[in-house]
Order: sequence, then structure tokens, then C-alpha cells
Amino acid sequence: MNTSTGTLAYLDHAATTPMRAGAVAAMLPFLTERYANPSGSHRFARDARRAVDEARDAVAEALGVPPGWVVFTGCGTESDNAAITGVLAAAAAAGRPGTAVCPAAEHHAVLHPVEHHGGRVVAVDRSGRVDLDALADALRSTPDVRVVSVMAVNNEVGSITDLVAVSALVRELAPDAVLHTDAVQTPSWADLRIITPLVDLVSLSAHKFGGPKGVGVLVVRDGTPFEPIIMGGGQERERRSGTHNVAGIVATAAALTETDTDRADELPRITRLRDRLVDTLLAELDDVIETVPRPDKVAGSAHVCIAGIESEALLFLLDQAEVCASAASACASGAMEPSHVLAAMGVERGWSSGALRMSLGATTTEADVDRAIEVVVDAVRRLRRGSGSS
Ligand code: PLP
Repeated sequence: MNTSTGTLAYLDHAATTPMRAGAVAAMLPFLTERYANPSGSHRFARDARRAVDEARDAVAEALGVPPGWVVFTGCGTESDNAAITGVLAAAAAAGRPGTAVCPAAEHHAVLHPVEHHGGRVVAVDRSGRVDLDALADALRSTPDVRVVSVMAVNNEVGSITDLVAVSALVRELAPDAVLHTDAVQTPSWADLRIITPLVDLVSLSAHKFGGPKGVGVLVVRDGTPFEPIIMGGGQERERRSGTHNVAGIVATAAALTETDTDRADELPRITRLRDRLVDTLLAELDDVIETVPRPDKVAGSAHVCIAGIESEALLFLLDQAEVCASAASACASGAMEPSHVLAAMGVERGWSSGALRMSLGATTTEADVDRAIEVVVDAVRRLRRGSGSS
């Protein structure tokens, strides 16, 4: 990848992925000459409103839902918060206060609101997927479950949830509960039309599929009890107030459409790159494990745990060599904190302290993989020599 700072091997697509050229081109007119507020009544406003409507239609098409179910938000975090808090608030307003349930490996955008509302957090298996027995126990033993949130793809280790099984369980054991899925990491790897019939609410974030940062989507199935968490001018049919980010919304639609169209060609290409990357690291280095078996995870995920080194020291050497990767998920402080996902999966400290998350995406090339292999192998050998291990 060529950047103004040189030649980077960017393997952090789960943190964010570059905007697609088509998305940039789609948004530019709305940052310049077509700048009207779509809530206005004049012709200029109607032009912006038409652009938002068309974007909504395109997003709905990629999701396989009616356009009226698509709510544009300010980010994936907002969509997740709105799903948990919005459903609990609606239940409370209807005189039926209750509880939220989620697995322990959810993104903090789900986990923190669930914990904030005193919800129930359930165990995950060794691949980071919700433990269906633990979920069934929680649904049977927790009174008044109002919302269950289970992510479609884990952002840290890439594991894929069996949402068919989750949906069947929730519908059987908590038929009144709303089912939400955080599908923020999903659009590049799976057809969203398969997911939407299984759930009531779906969260997306544009910057994970080649759209801009600061635009999210929350799909709200008709009839779902839901109160807005942001109130004001009544935009988005009273479900999310705030002047529309027209340029961002238009770019989101362009990026999602392109992602949906390219997926079938991209999957085998990225799988081959990921397999070569991981297979070579496993062949070149002793004491490295692939954290989640390949059949359980998405093509773009290359998460490994390396014994005898610390992630922080490894990432420092990778950064010096212009290889961008991460240990856990990205967080605002940039501080290295122990991964709650690996802890929930039961990965021993000796392995999890050497976690390395490399995530591939639409711009990943053979050269990126070559460079990452060379740099990771060299850095691990140097660190192990320094620490006295073999
Ligand atoms: N959910 C998952 C699974 C994510 O990976 C992320 C981003 O890292 C989010 C939610 C939050 O999305 P955003 O960055 O748009 O707030």
C-alpha cells in the first residue's frame, strides 16, 4: 500500500478499511455544491432528501429488508447502544421493565450497555462463539429478558456465530425478546440477506466496508418495541434525530453496494492470502497457534498467539518496519489492555499475552503478505533471542 509516509503493509482492516473510490466519488458533491439539509422544504432540500432516500433503498437492497427498516446513525457504537438501550426503554415505558443478555466476547459497544443496565453476560466457546447451552440456561433462568444481542462475526478473532441456532433458541425460550446482532464485521464476508430474516435489529458501521467513519446503520424490523436514544428533530421517522450526514449516507450506500457485488470474487482471493500468511508463520516459527480454527472464522481474519513474546513489544517492531497490525481490538486510548475476548475463550495467559491480530481486506495484496511474513518472523526471532527463549 502506498501512503504519504511510505510503503505500509496494512493488515488492520478489522479496525478500519480504506474508503472505496466509488464511495469517495459518491460523497464529494454533497460536501460541495449539493450541501442542502434534507429536512428542508425547498427544491434544494428535496434534492438532498432524494439522495438520502436513494441511499436508503440501496442499503435496504443489500440487506434484503424494506427501506423503512433502515435507520442511519452516527456509528456502529451508536447502533449497538440504541439496540440495547432503546429496547429496554421501550419495554420500561410499556410497563414491562426487563433485562438484556449478551455473550462475553461481544464488542464493548454491546457489552458495556448490557452491563450498565445490569444485564446477563453468558459464556462463549473456545472459538469465541456464544455457548448455546449457556445461552439457553440464561434464557430459562432470567426473568423478563427483553433483548438478546449476539454478534454475527467477532471483531477480534473473526469467529462466525451460528445465528440460525441462536435465533431458534431465542424464539423458543424467550419469544417476547427482541434479537439484535452486531454485524459490524460481517458485510465483507457474508450476504446480509441471510442474517436479516433471523433477527429484529442489525448494526452496521460504514468504515468497516469502505464507507466513511461516523456513519452507522441500525435495521429495525417493523413492530419492534424501540425508543430512540437521540431525540430532537424527529429525523429517521423519530427513531434517530439529528441532521442527516448526507454525504456520509450516500457514500455508505455506494460502499455497501460495491462490497455486496465484489464479495463472491473477493472471498477466495482473501482466503488464499490469509492461508498463505498463517501457514507460512506456522511453518517458520515454533510455538505459534492459530487462535480460532479456519472453518470457524471469516476469510479476513489471521489471529495467532505466539508463545514467549509480549504483543506490545512485537507491535512496536512491526510498526518500525511499517507493518500495521494489532493485538486486541482498537481502542481510543491506544493502551494495550488484556483482551476480554481471549479471556472469555479460555486462552491461557501464556498464549494470550502474545496475541497478534492481522486482518485482511479489499486492498490487501500479495506484497503485503510477503512483507508481513518477513517482518513478523524476524521480529519474533529477535524478541525470543532477547528474552532468552528459543
Ligand atoms: N461492533 C464491532 C463488532 C466492531 O468491530 C466495532 C468497531 O470496531 C464497533 C461495533 C463500533 O463501530 P464504530 O467504530 O462505527 O463505532
